[in-house]
Amino acid sequence: MTSAPNQLPAASRPPFDEVEGLAGTRLAGLLQGPGRRERLTHVERVAARAGRWGQWPDWVHPELIASLAAAGVPAPWEHQARAAELARSGQSVVVATGTASGKSLCYLVPALSAVLEHRDLPSSGPFGPDRPTTLYIAPTKALAADQLRAVNSLGIGEVRAATYDGDTPVESRDWVRHHSSYVLTNPDMLHRSILPGHARWAGFLRGLNYVVVDECHRYRGVFGSHVAAVLRRLRRVCEHYGGTPTFVLASATVSDPATSAGRLTGLPVVAVDNDAAPRGETLFALWEPPLTELTGEHDAPVRRTATAEVAELMTDLIIDGARTVAFVRSRRAAETVSLATRRLLDEVDPALAVRVAAYRAGYLPEERRALEADLQSGRILGVASTNALELGVDIAGLDAVLLAGYPGTRASLWQQAGRAGRAGQGALAVLVARDDPLDTYLTHHPEMLFGSPVEATVLDPDNPHVLRPHLCAAAAELPLTDDDIALFGPNAPAVADHLVETGLLRRRSTGLYWTRPERASDLADIRGTGGTPVELVEAETGRLLGLVDAGASHAAAHAGAVYLHQGASYLVDSLDLENHVALLHPADPDWTTYARDVTDIRVLETEQTRGWESTTLSFGTVEVSSQVVAFLRKRIATGEVLGEEPLDLPMRRLRTRAVWWTVTEDGLRHADLAPADVPGAAHAAEHASIGLLPLFATCDRWDIGGVSTAHHLDTGAMTVFVYDGHPGGAGFAERGHQTAVAWLTATREAIASCECAEGCPSCVQSPKCGNGNDPLDKAGAVRLLDVFLRSAPVVGA
Ligand SMILES: [Zn+2]
Ligand SMILES: [Zn+2]
Repeated sequence: MTSAPNQLPAASRPPFDEVEGLAGTRLAGLLQGPGRRERLTHVERVAARAGRWGQWPDWVHPELIASLAAAGVPAPWEHQARAAELARSGQSVVVATGTASGKSLCYLVPALSAVLEHRDLPSSGPFGPDRPTTLYIAPTKALAADQLRAVNSLGIGEVRAATYDGDTPVESRDWVRHHSSYVLTNPDMLHRSILPGHARWAGFLRGLNYVVVDECHRYRGVFGSHVAAVLRRLRRVCEHYGGTPTFVLASATVSDPATSAGRLTGLPVVAVDNDAAPRGETLFALWEPPLTELTGEHDAPVRRTATAEVAELMTDLIIDGARTVAFVRSRRAAETVSLATRRLLDEVDPALAVRVAAYRAGYLPEERRALEADLQSGRILGVASTNALELGVDIAGLDAVLLAGYPGTRASLWQQAGRAGRAGQGALAVLVARDDPLDTYLTHHPEMLFGSPVEATVLDPDNPHVLRPHLCAAAAELPLTDDDIALFGPNAPAVADHLVETGLLRRRSTGLYWTRPERASDLADIRGTGGTPVELVEAETGRLLGLVDAGASHAAAHAGAVYLHQGASYLVDSLDLENHVALLHPADPDWTTYARDVTDIRVLETEQTRGWESTTLSFGTVEVSSQVVAFLRKRIATGEVLGEEPLDLPMRRLRTRAVWWTVTEDGLRHADLAPADVPGAAHAAEHASIGLLPLFATCDRWDIGGVSTAHHLDTGAMTVFVYDGHPGGAGFAERGHQTAVAWLTATREAIASCECAEGCPSCVQSPKCGNGNDPLDKAGAVRLLDVFLRSAPVVGA
């Protein structure tokens, strides 16, 4: 190794200046234990902000203003007034502001004002002009139910708001279609029921003023691409009835929300992201657990787990009298943290130990309310919880929030951290890093968490695999003309031609027709990713636990896999690929499993490429062949590797999109990389870059894959590929291509800032590596990335 990783030695870490206030005192308390000070990598004081009031525009109906005042809203925040004004003027708008910033008023105000104005018209009534309507779309039924309560609480009877989903009784459906002015539904229902049966909705669609797309950042990847097609179908059907609705979207704070919303709707969208709601002060600490004496693969050091560290911190906070919530990933981790905390407290004060609880999804409403009450009253001082609490339980005003690992997006991070803080007191939030490259990077790069966001909601409305079934569904709704096809983007004409050639659509002079007996909307599974999904069945009871996409089934449901379902764990007994079924039994092992695959990649079409002195960067279509060959068992508590077992599964082929970069032999020589070092350097860079892409594209590291090689046949050079794990692509690799310099710079930093000597799970080792994390050259990866970044400085953001 010639260049030592430029880690930040403990001694040179920035001094932690005593922060005033209770949160500062509590943080100082956490630093008291031995070795604690070195684990604190950053403290950010997120200052309190006063709200900025706006004014209701003149057109807002006085009755609505009165209702809002009665509900405790005397005036709008600036961003609410601006978004409502844009929507009213017919400009589609995306509101991307923080949690609890009142996004729903942005669409409720124009929507409900329109209903009241219509009521006031002299000609209104059964024979008057169409009733103005709003279609509200939420990703889940639960959110739609919440919103229904919010609309009804304003007490405007003329609205007749109603949900329309799988639970709506058939006898109520007619009433909803004919009388409701505000219908709350989900994309599945729109796709399967409302659009195919649009004739019954003619009146509603004719009067459709607003389409609200709530939580639109959840429409990402393949699911997002499907929803984009569904919304284009909706726009076309509305146009048929003479409606041209304005779209109002609500998003978490992400990078470039207008572009994402534009891709989702296919319309120009203006972003309102200047959050004017008030917020309290938060003291945010970033915390990196120490390396332990334990060793993992290839004797790499293993970092102390985030859950063990969180239990210790929670113990100290509770002794200090702070009411604390710890957010963890799984039910099992929630149990582990609460048990460990109780055990630690028991040594100090048994009376405190009983005041710690675990909370997870699946609790009954009574149980949730009891927990809320116990936390409010202080009878319970500490809760370890899965994200269930993030969505289901109404608690705020806690003293401290601990996060066991980055929750995946900044929106979730703030949603969880926002649970802390009482009037007049600062809140304390501590993000404890897990043993992976993304968390390592973030604890050393606070600007990524506290500066402007770089993560974008990514989807690909042009994916032909997604377009195919939706063009059939659209043709079944109304014959498809050339103009209609243009609505579905540049790839749509070729896809439509292919559908005609294969006999799915029929061409007549008036357009393309669906003439087959089956329901065209059944062709698209908007939450799946193609192929027959595998059913997960509990062997003893025959109960269906869930479905796994065909593409993921080899890795997630092979014999011997640990499968988590709603926080409970199961072991897979067998996977029957012919019948698409896996049998499981409940089990609670103290280890988890990681599948390993062997992968090969071919370039089918290079769509974009740029070259520099010794490097190139490209994006295009590839074919990936992969085979799951083994799985690894790892102890949950420590991350220790317990063993590896071979598997015998068939090869799978995937046609998808990829981003790839190359370095010539000259470039490698300049980087001091001998031919023998290249495979390890490229492999290490590939792993870390997969770990870091979720920072830029809101994906999971499991949504993407990678291949690296010292010499690839199609490029003729050392090449690192990162590809989308779904047929046709999902936009993640494309986002990697767009942000290549920022992404690979972050990758380089994540590797360089890890304090291990030769590579560990926090930097270059990957739990799903097909080659057993061998070879990996940590220092070589940094030099390799430097060559690329020096020669290609002008691409990306
Ligand atoms: Zn490391
Ligand atoms: Zn690998």
